[in-house]
Amino acid sequence: MKILIIEDERELSRNIAQYLSADSYLCEQAFTYQEALEKIGLYGYDCILLDLGLPGGDGLRLLEEIRARKIESGVIIISARGELEDKIAGLRTGADDYLPKPFSLPELSVRIYALLRRQRSTGNNLLTSGAVEVDLLAKEVRVEGKRVELTRSEYDLLLFLIGNRRRVVSKNAIAEHLSGDMADMMDNHNFVYSHMKNLKAKLQEAGMVSCIRTVYGNGYQWME
Ligand code: CA
Repeated sequence: MKILIIEDERELSRNIAQYLSADSYLCEQAFTYQEALEKIGLYGYDCILLDLGLPGGDGLRLLEEIRARKIESGVIIISARGELEDKIAGLRTGADDYLPKPFSLPELSVRIYALLRRQRSTGNNLLTSGAVEVDLLAKEVRVEGKRVELTRSEYDLLLFLIGNRRRVVSKNAIAEHLSGDMADMMDNHNFVYSHMKNLKAKLQEAGMVSCIRTVYGNGYQWME
């Protein structure tokens, strides 16, 4: 996890860098508006700590620049201007959080942790295929926004099908995926049929009628 500390008070910047490095974050520092602008243009950061009063320019302008360039980094404003207007302006411009000075380093660390977690749970953890949306973190499935309750096996089966979209997956492959080594010992695949039947019924009830195609003699295919 890479963090850019944009802060012109050198001692504070150094303290933050030291503290966060011990939390095993990789820290870089920028001390002026121009330095910050250059770093943002050259490198990617998971999180940016942004002071508002900077030599060479205003932190809010930097924030506008970050958002205008569609840079995905989370931004936490750290500023002594603790007034409410600044807070609102910062959040309106696209900051994710606002921490007024003086703050404690553990507090900062917790805010960063929470921000990175929020980013992860709205970013990479959603798998969508057609009208189906799977929250991989919460293990929840939705069809057109409506929750579909699946058993553990049905959920695994759904992920396996979506993961293999555009391919026909055999009953053997599904059996192996659902039960691991056990598949060898089972001479019939009734459990695949029954999980498949239940999954299809639940998806159908949620409005997805023909999302799983049966390829007779071969297996199944996920239809987006
Ligand atoms: Ca400052």
